[in-house]
Formats: sequence, structure tokens, C-alpha cells
Amino acid sequence: MIHIRHVTRRYSAAVTALDDVSLEIAEGEFVAITGPSGCGKSTLMHLIGGLDTATSGEIVVDGLPLHGADDAELTAYRRTKIGIVFQFFHLLPTMTVTENVCLPLLLRGDAYPAARAKAGEIIELVGLGDRAQHGMHQLSGGQLQRTAIARALVHDPAVLLADEPTGNLDSANAGQIMELLQKISSQRRTTMLVVTHSEEIARQASRCIRLRDGKISHHP
Ligand code: ADP
Ligand code: ADP
Repeated sequence: MIHIRHVTRRYSAAVTALDDVSLEIAEGEFVAITGPSGCGKSTLMHLIGGLDTATSGEIVVDGLPLHGADDAELTAYRRTKIGIVFQFFHLLPTMTVTENVCLPLLLRGDAYPAARAKAGEIIELVGLGDRAQHGMHQLSGGQLQRTAIARALVHDPAVLLADEPTGNLDSANAGQIMELLQKISSQRRTTMLVVTHSEEIARQASRCIRLRDGKISHHP
């Protein structure tokens, strides 16, 4: 699903965030990317998500070579193939769960009834069926992250990228969010990449890739 070959991302002459990284991730894999602060985790995720482009090397996701894509192709790629979950949720505070989850579908032009039906299925899947009409201020941290996961999945992306998805949760909620991501990965075959600095969270993935100074230091 994801092929990364000799990828380097240099921000300046002094800062090489990724240094000749090569990596293969199969469809349906659940991979943790871990390592100390500044090792290049976010940079790698941004490159795979089409939010940034490599200085050199090749990235191919679901058959699309990102290194050769123009801005319009990258925008279309992000909207169709990629879902992203953030540490601080990035939900719209004045909207309900259903409205937040519908948003990506409405932005791509789906009619509201179809978007609402699709959102309803995903909201059930993440375990928020009884909260669909709740506002964001009525939800716990774990429920906010479930809402964000539902929004990231509603357009059926091939790849779900999660940047410290449990970083803002207590350990019980963090464990439940990881279980939910595992369930989604096995039921829907969504390829899952979770960036975390927590070894405990990383152990719950099916494979763990460790970065150090922009290079892969451990790659089973
Ligand atoms: P991590 O996510 O593992 O903390 P990052 O990918 O954010 O690491 O950063 C890797 C390196 O690149 C760090 O040295 C960081 O300071 C640097 N860096 C990240 N983003 C930028 C940027 N936009 N401009 C310049 N340097 C950056
Ligand atoms: P969790 O066990 O998921 O951490 P909490 O203990 O924070 O949840 O909350 C228990 C229940 O109370 C949750 O199901 C949530 O819907 C509801 N709740 C939490 N915070 C608020 C709030 N500020 N206003 C209304 N309801 C809330």
C-alpha cells in the first residue's frame, strides 16, 4: 500500500528531518512509528499524507506516485485516500457529532441525506451511536477522539494517519482508542499508521518502526 524509497526531507542545509528512509507497508497493516522528539515522525507522516513533499526519493501510496503529483492531484489524494487524526482532535466546537462527521462528505459535494446516513454507520462503528446529536462540550476526551476517528474514516480512506492520537488521554481511554483502531484495521482493512512517543502504545500495533535522527533504527 505504501512504498517509500530512499526518501530524504531536508528543511535547510542544517536540518535533515528524514535521511534516506526506505519502508514498505502492506495493505491492512497496523504500524506504529515511534522515536524521540525531533526524530522525524511528523515529517514522515506529513509526506505520506501528501501535506509535504520529499526533497528526494519516491513515495507511492495505493498506486499513486506522490513525488510526481502536482498540487491538484495531492489535494484530490488527501480527500479520497487519506484520513488524519490529531492529538487535539480539531473538531468544530459548535457542531454535533453527526455534523462534524458529515463535514468531509459535504465538502466533497455529497447531498446531506446520503452524508448523514454514511456518518451514522461510522458513528455506530466507533461506539458513539447514543451520542450522535451531542455537542462537543458534552463529550469526554475519549468520546472526542472517537468523533475525530469517525470523521477521518467517513470517506473510506485507504490509509488512516494518527498523530499522537492518545497523547491527550488518560491510559484507560488511550487503551480503548488503540483497541478501536485495531478493530477498524481488522474489519475494514484500513492501513493504519500511528505516530506515538509511547512505547506502551507502540506495542499494541502489529509492527513498530523506530526512527532516530531521521533514520530507521529498528525495523523488524
Ligand atoms: P518528530 O515528529 O519526531 O518530533 P519532526 O518530523 O517534527 O520530528 O522534526 C524532525 C526535525 O525536523 C526536527 O529537527 C525539527 O526541528 C525539524 N523540522 C520539522 N519541521 C520543520 C520545519 N517546518 N522547518 C524546519 N525544520 C523543521
Ligand atoms: P469517560 O469515562 O469516557 O472518560 P467521563 O467520565 O468524562 O467519560 O464522562 C462520563 C459521561 O458523562 C460521558 O459519557 C459523557 O458523555 C458525559 N460527559 C462528560 N463530560 C460532560 C460534560 N462536560 N457535559 C455533559 N456530559 C458530559
